[in-house]
Amino acid sequence: MTTMTTTRMTPLLERNEQFASTYTPAALALPARQVLIVTCLDHRVDPAIVLGLQLADAPVVRNAGGRVTQPVVDDIAYLAFLAEQVFGGEQGLDTLFEVAVVHHTQCGTGLLADAGYRHRAAEATGQAEAVLAASAVADPYVTVKADVERLLAAPTLSPKVSVSGHVYDIATGRVTTIVDARYP
Ligand SMILES: [Zn+2]
Repeated sequence: MTTMTTTRMTPLLERNEQFASTYTPAALALPARQVLIVTCLDHRVDPAIVLGLQLADAPVVRNAGGRVTQPVVDDIAYLAFLAEQVFGGEQGLDTLFEVAVVHHTQCGTGLLADAGYRHRAAEATGQAEAVLAASAVADPYVTVKADVERLLAAPTLSPKVSVSGHVYDIATGRVTTIVDARYP
């Protein structure tokens, strides 16, 4: 028999009860918006709220900064393969989805641009300083362009996947397109 304990999850689980009470499961299908979002894990940058995403609209990949790291490239390559396997044959798809890379202002990773801070962060987390430096978003308008180029240059990126770059401004709530969508 389990004992119910109150944790910080308790109010969220109550919200989930509300959610589940009117829930209709979505069928396995291509994401309704045919967009995949890569963005920061920052709790002020929730793409479902900022971009009005509904359930089954778009996969979202999040990490510190919303950087296009190798694991992100790998996830995108797998999702393109999955979409092709499950839906490509019957629908003869020429395009699969657009990857929208969204960086933001006031990113907490920006602090990593400072050498002293980065050194202390490396000691505390066990990560290499170079890795932490590569994850820093000091200027999102610069890093988003670099990450769009990095993804477009990735040898494992499907030619049926396009990539665009955007910046979310924490101060205004506005998302601005910095790099228009293009194919590799
Ligand atoms: Zn951030």
